[in-house]
Amino acid sequence: MSLLRTSAADLAGVIASGEVSAREVTQAHLDQIQAVDGSVKAFLHVDAEGALAAADAVDARRAAGEALSPLAGVPLAMKDIFTITGMPTTCGSRILEGWSPPYSSTIAEKLRAAGVVVLGKTNMDEFAMGSSTENSGFFTTHNPWDNDRVPGGSGGGSAASLAAFEAPLAIGTDTGGSIRQPASVTGTVGVKPTYGGTSRYGVVAMASSLDTPGPCARTVLDAALLHSVIAGHDPRDSTSIDAPVPDVVGAARAADVTGMRIGVVKELGGEGYQPGVEQRFSEALAVLESLGAEIVEVSCPSFEYALAAYYLIMPSEVSSNLARFDAMRYGLRVGDDGVNSTEEVMNLTRGAGFGAEAKRRIILGTYALSSGYYDAYYGSAQKVRTLIKRDFDAAFARTDVLVSPSTPTTAFRIGERTADPLAMYKADLCTIPSNLAGNCGISVPCGLSPDDGLPVGFQVMAPVMADDRLYRVAAALEAELTKRWGGTLLDHLADSPSGAYLGVGSMR
Ligand code: GLN
Repeated sequence: MSLLRTSAADLAGVIASGEVSAREVTQAHLDQIQAVDGSVKAFLHVDAEGALAAADAVDARRAAGEALSPLAGVPLAMKDIFTITGMPTTCGSRILEGWSPPYSSTIAEKLRAAGVVVLGKTNMDEFAMGSSTENSGFFTTHNPWDNDRVPGGSGGGSAASLAAFEAPLAIGTDTGGSIRQPASVTGTVGVKPTYGGTSRYGVVAMASSLDTPGPCARTVLDAALLHSVIAGHDPRDSTSIDAPVPDVVGAARAADVTGMRIGVVKELGGEGYQPGVEQRFSEALAVLESLGAEIVEVSCPSFEYALAAYYLIMPSEVSSNLARFDAMRYGLRVGDDGVNSTEEVMNLTRGAGFGAEAKRRIILGTYALSSGYYDAYYGSAQKVRTLIKRDFDAAFARTDVLVSPSTPTTAFRIGERTADPLAMYKADLCTIPSNLAGNCGISVPCGLSPDDGLPVGFQVMAPVMADDRLYRVAAALEAELTKRWGGTLLDHLADSPSGAYLGVGSMR
């Protein structure tokens, strides 16, 4: 059995039965990181010692006859925006270089309590601003499908670590698409839970009214298992929803769309969408119809303004959240020579520590919030946000879920969009509406685009706290497609000549 190609659900099973130890599983993934991460560059920090110690603790609990939780002993890659004690947190920014948090995020605590083995921290666009990891202050992550292409962003490191078989599970945050878009372009599964369904405590804030931590995995069931570990009410996050976590695992196992009404959002397609992406999307719709779902078309006219509203609301919140990086409390300090004033040290540090995209957004947000412009920009954007919510409400009154491509194109080339921020921003056209409305979405692979052979993602969106519906639809689609393909998309990559460098060989 190839430990690297086994699902998290199955790994947990063989660890619990004693067939393999958590240490063996962890060591196999550390070896894979050692072998391939020089070219993939998914990790900013690997904690081999801590991971093996966590694995040993799981093995000891098993040996003592303790019942293990469902993902005990399974390795996970953590986006470097989650604080966790014993490891640095940089958010992909030079300004936080060298900072190790004295506390852990609620999600990190939940993972550790569940016996999940944290392998290390993954690369990301600086403070989660970007769609390609090219805005990382350290280096760009490469897409395992094609080394010259981006793995998406901002959570490109987490997605690439899954596609390169360096970890079976990962976590990310989705403010405008940073879990779903990387999942889409790497042939993996990514979920943005309902806003408030997963705790933001200890997750470095980008745009607080939008940020949503969520699971990343190679299968829908694995994502559901991870979702159920990390979700739930947290009194330490004032926007956390005090309600039971939807039964996402049950829904993933049910994988049944019989009688469901699935709405295709008319506005999320057409001009600007890659033909191969639209083709695979339509084929996936036909699959769902053949499985007993009813497909209807819905219109959400305000979605046209979602990107514009997002690029006012998000930078406004960014400009305020990033004010805390003042050279006094965390990480980098530049020009502290006893001569410069405190203000000069702050200016020098922020000038040196933030990259161009962070600066662009801080400036934009400060402008949008300034008195004189507040109503015209920030105020108008908030009104658009309400219109988008109303579009969703009207659409969900007629349907159980809405669907679209996850992103308009497949993975673009490294460097292709760096000079054109608007082209970069458009990667999130389909994902941003759910962030603005606070509801939930998943990206699940639906094939390789016939025009470039790269993965295409299928997005399912559901109402607030109806996250189980995402899993029901995505799991049904995944089950049927893997049957037709004779394996998953990533099996296809691993077995292909271009995937040979991943070194995980054929399992079948
Ligand atoms: N790509 C989007 C942005 O740059 C989304 C980022 C995110 O979800 N963190 O803002």
